[in-house]
Amino acid sequence: MITKIIQEEKIQKVKKYIEKADKITIVTHVSPDGDALGSSLGLYHFLATFEKENVAVIVPNEFPSFYRWMPGSKDIIVYEKYPDFAAQLIKESDVIFCLDFNEPKRVEKLAPVLLEAEGRKVMIDHHLCPSDFCRVTISYPQISSTSEMIFRLICRMSYFDLMTKECAECIYTGMMTDTGSFTYNSNQPEIYVIISELIKKGIDKDRIYRQVNQVYSESRLRMMGYVLYEKMKVYKTENSALITLSAEELKRFEYVPGDTEGFVNMPLSINGVSFSCFLRESEEYIKVSLRSVGDFPCNKFAAKYFNGGGHKNASGGEFFGSLDEAVAVFEQGLSEFNPNKIEE
Ligand code: 5GP
Ligand code: MN
Repeated sequence: MITKIIQEEKIQKVKKYIEKADKITIVTHVSPDGDALGSSLGLYHFLATFEKENVAVIVPNEFPSFYRWMPGSKDIIVYEKYPDFAAQLIKESDVIFCLDFNEPKRVEKLAPVLLEAEGRKVMIDHHLCPSDFCRVTISYPQISSTSEMIFRLICRMSYFDLMTKECAECIYTGMMTDTGSFTYNSNQPEIYVIISELIKKGIDKDRIYRQVNQVYSESRLRMMGYVLYEKMKVYKTENSALITLSAEELKRFEYVPGDTEGFVNMPLSINGVSFSCFLRESEEYIKVSLRSVGDFPCNKFAAKYFNGGGHKNASGGEFFGSLDEAVAVFEQGLSEFNPNKIEE
């Protein structure tokens, strides 16, 4: 038995919404990661076995190719590619699930469509400070992945039997990727009770690990070598590190979405480095990724300096300006708000 974390009243509401709905859409955040896709596709598979025929998964933009093996991924509609079709589906939906994000801003260009839609919105998420735009908000930051929340939701609706192997594979993927393959945010014993149930559904967890983590292109691995050798700056007295990649450098290494996944974590393997920042230049802005180990709240750093947020140990944001300016902001931040000065 796992603890009942989600409020019963919310479970019953969602159950009723699903039962009554004809058209359902599942939406997740921009640059979808393993948890965004895992929770969305996990719910998608559940709804399919529940015999809901009109269910769509919509993501704002393209997702990394190493998630294409996920069952159901071929059905995902990318808003950037098919904006009118995706917008129409959202508009016509009776129920809209908002998974793995806490504010409309996180779906970027899809935000106005989502806000205007009249269907019942249900947020299922684990980020701090959910904004109030959904009819039902199921937000538990102490849970390490939204995918785990989907597992809990299905069980609490008494539909565990309807969970297929495909559904279990998607849920496991999200649980695994949001905990760095169970190396952080992963000390809750019930995580392993759930994994045990997923294995009983027939998943091959070792294969899932390989399919996500060991499918790099040659150029991606060379970019990693370049980053570690030439692009990582260590701030010893601040116990911090910074990696930057310009658009030109990304092009040189034939960057495709997902290629820099995990780069931000690499400096944390240095003894004494407990805060790491990765700045990647994109067309519209500088994407900021922050990671910490221990008590340093990188979500507060993200909010203060980079208009972002996230979790205590994994957060991000956006910077509108040049890469050099973003570096200057980071260094300014370090001097004002460095991990050694945290009083907690
Ligand atoms: P990543 O570095 O993998 O892109 O993001 C790590 C975490 O930081 C995400 O799970 C998300 O919670 C948060 N995050 C990333 N970018 C943003 C952003 O622009 N705004 C906010 N509020 N959170 C972000
Ligand atoms: Mn997540």
